Amino acid sequence: MTKTKTISHIGVLTSGGDAPGMNAAIRAVVRACAFYGLDCTGFRGGYKGLMNADASRMDARSVAHIISRGGTVLKSARCMEFHSHEGREKAASVLKREGIDGLVVIGGDGSFTGADLLRSEFGVAVVGIPGTIDNDIYGTDRTIGYDTAVNTVMTAMDNIRDTATSHDRLFFIECMGRDSGFIGLQAGIAGGATEILIPEAPRTLPELVAKLQASRRACKSSSIILVAEGDQSGCVFSLAKQTAAQLPDYDVRVSVLGHIQRGGSPSCADRVLASQLGIAAVEQLQQGNAGIMVGVRNNALATTPLSDAISQKPTPCPDLLRVTGIISL
Ligand code: ADP
Repeated sequence: MTKTKTISHIGVLTSGGDAPGMNAAIRAVVRACAFYGLDCTGFRGGYKGLMNADASRMDARSVAHIISRGGTVLKSARCMEFHSHEGREKAASVLKREGIDGLVVIGGDGSFTGADLLRSEFGVAVVGIPGTIDNDIYGTDRTIGYDTAVNTVMTAMDNIRDTATSHDRLFFIECMGRDSGFIGLQAGIAGGATEILIPEAPRTLPELVAKLQASRRACKSSSIILVAEGDQSGCVFSLAKQTAAQLPDYDVRVSVLGHIQRGGSPSCADRVLASQLGIAAVEQLQQGNAGIMVGVRNNALATTPLSDAISQKPTPCPDLLRVTGIISL
């Protein structure tokens, strides 16, 4: 953790993949600044906006009525230029020129990697807020956007279940989760999946086929296999095809949920988490703490060095993996 000088002006940006609740986090940062009498500047379009000084002052009223909106009013972007030392130097000089002495970055591990470089190379006081639907950040039990995303997937599964049951169909549903199975595991349990395929718990085709045959013997009228993007099968369509070849009497369909998982009005849990973490980020900067991420662990605020948040990977709860094996009989 880096100790910094007194803070009077804070910058805030959203970066990387957007997530529901980012607006609630922006609102909390801006309102905390107003509460403590600090200036606040928002940068549009992530690190690109920071490098190009695409900025405007934000006050308490400028974030009115955004807590319920998905996406991010500050926009987000992926910025290749920020990967270079020169790009980050440009960003650091903008912060200096604008008189900003603390920066709050709302994003995922890629955004935190950039933020930590900005700190180590140019001494910028940065605090990260975990905003990603994937929940794949070490140091926090929940990331902003995760709860909304799993509820979206669960609702989609409920809807698909109706049609699957009406026609006695087997559905393969692909959800997000390229590198981690948090979304798949949580939504899969809640949506009653027969099998959940995630990177952390791979299944072979014969195992999957045996499970489906057992389901049929147990008189299940429909089955849903929830497949995370990052599952070892690599492609939900080819997995469905291979399964159908082994189970010719099944009527198999595939549904890829895609970007609907990123959107929508944030859930209550995400709004509250974002509000708590936005305020915590400002307070940490005020206390002279930087180079950290704010999160929640065991229902308490927790800070984690950005270097740990980036380098370590959380794993889905082993007990939930066990639960899926029992509940889907
Ligand atoms: P997320 O923050 O959701 O993981 P990305 O991985 O796309 O999303 O990262 C968002 C942005 O963070 C990138 O477009 C880039 O500007 C910056 N970034 C990511 N990785 C690095 C890195 N290794 N060095 C510097 N900046 C990075």
